[in-house]
Amino acid sequence: MTDWWQAADAELLAALGELQTALNTTWAQMLEVVREVESRGLAERHGYVTGADLLRGTQNISRSTAKARVRAAQDVLPARSLSGEPQPAEMPATAAAVAEGAISAEHVRAIQVTLAALPPHLERHRASLEADLAGFARTLDPDAVLKLGKRALAALDPDGPRPRDGDPTRTRFALVPRGAGFETRGWLDREAAAVLRTALSPLAAPAPAAEGVPDPRSLPERQGDALVELARRVLDTGRLPAEGGQPPHVTVTVALEVLERRLGAGLLGFGEGILAAAISAEDARRWACDAHLVPIVLGAEGAPLDIGRRSRVVSRSLRRALAHRDGGCSFPGCECPPQWTEAHHVVHWAEGGATALHNLLLLCPRHHTLIHAGEWEVSISQGFPLFHPPPWIPGGPRRNPLHRIDLIART
Ligand SMILES: [Zn+2]
Ligand SMILES: [Zn+2]
Repeated sequence: MTDWWQAADAELLAALGELQTALNTTWAQMLEVVREVESRGLAERHGYVTGADLLRGTQNISRSTAKARVRAAQDVLPARSLSGEPQPAEMPATAAAVAEGAISAEHVRAIQVTLAALPPHLERHRASLEADLAGFARTLDPDAVLKLGKRALAALDPDGPRPRDGDPTRTRFALVPRGAGFETRGWLDREAAAVLRTALSPLAAPAPAAEGVPDPRSLPERQGDALVELARRVLDTGRLPAEGGQPPHVTVTVALEVLERRLGAGLLGFGEGILAAAISAEDARRWACDAHLVPIVLGAEGAPLDIGRRSRVVSRSLRRALAHRDGGCSFPGCECPPQWTEAHHVVHWAEGGATALHNLLLLCPRHHTLIHAGEWEVSISQGFPLFHPPPWIPGGPRRNPLHRIDLIART
C-alpha cells in the first residue's frame, strides 16, 4: 500500500490516470472471460437461465451491471464463426479503445445507446458513427459522448419524427392564473425548443451536492428555476433591445504592469460608477479578454493610458463570427451556449496577441478560469480551437464537437 499522504501532488494526479486505465483494462479482461463463459453455455449447466443471471448470482452485482457486461462482451470482442474463424467485432473502433484501456464501461454504454437509436434508413452511417463516437470517447466523458451521439443522430436525420394530426403548428406560450401563481401553457416547434433548451441547460444543471446532499429539485423544478434565472440574467446584462441609452457595461481599471506581470490587483466598476470592488490581477487579466468589458489601462502614474482601445475589445461582428465558429464554449465536452461565454485571447493582448479570429476562442466562465489557471494549453489549429491537457491527463489534444458536429472530421 502506498502512503498517499506522503506523495507529491503530481504523483497523486498521475496515479489517478494510471488507476483509471487499470480499471478500464481490468474491465476489458473481464469481458473476455464473460464471453468465454457465454460461449461454453456455463449458465445453463449451472442452473442459471442466462449468462447475465449467472454473473448476477455469483458475482454479487446488480442485474443491470450483469446485463451490461454481457452486452459489452458481445459488442466489443471479436466474434468467432461456427468454424472457429475470428470475425470482426460488432463495434470495432470501440473494441480497439476498450482493448487499450482508453475508455470505460460507461463510454461503451453511451455508444451502444446511440447506435441502438439509429433509425433503419440511416443504417449506412452506423460504421462511421461508431468510429467517430469511439474516437471522441477517448477524451470526452460518457455524458458528453451521449450528448454527442444525440446531436450526431439529429444531424444525420434533421427531419426527425413527423408531425401527427392535431399537433399545434405555431409556437406559443401563455401564463394562466392558477391558485397562488400561474400555470405555463404552450407549444414549441423543434427549433424554438432547441433554442430554449440550449439556453436553459447550463442553468438547469443540478447544483453541486451541498454537504453530501445532492440537489433535491426535480428536472421540471430545475428548469422552472432556470427559466426565471434566464430572464433575470438577460435583464441584468442588458442584452434586450436598448430602452434609451447604452446597455450597462463593466469597466475594469487596471495598471498596465499588473496585466503584464500578474502583480497586484485591479478595480472593478459598473457603468459610470467605479471602484466597486478590488479584483485579483488574475481576474483582471481574464476579464480583460472579453468583449463586454472595457479595459481602462493605467500607466505608471495611474493616469489612464488607454480607455477601451478598440483593437483590444472584441467587436460585435467579431463576436458573432466567433459564436459561429465555436458555437459556444469551445472546451471539450462543454455545452455552454455562446451567450454565456467570454472571448479568450490565445496570446494575451497585454503580450501582443491580436484581437482576431486566429487568436480568439469562446469559453464559459468556468473553463475560462481553468485555462487561465495555466495547466491546459490552447491553440487554434486548422481554424478551430484545440486543447492540450497537462501531461497527467491521458488522451492527448482534443476538441469540442458538441456545438460543431462537423468538427468530428477534423480531429
Ligand atoms: Zn482569457
Ligand atoms: Zn465551458
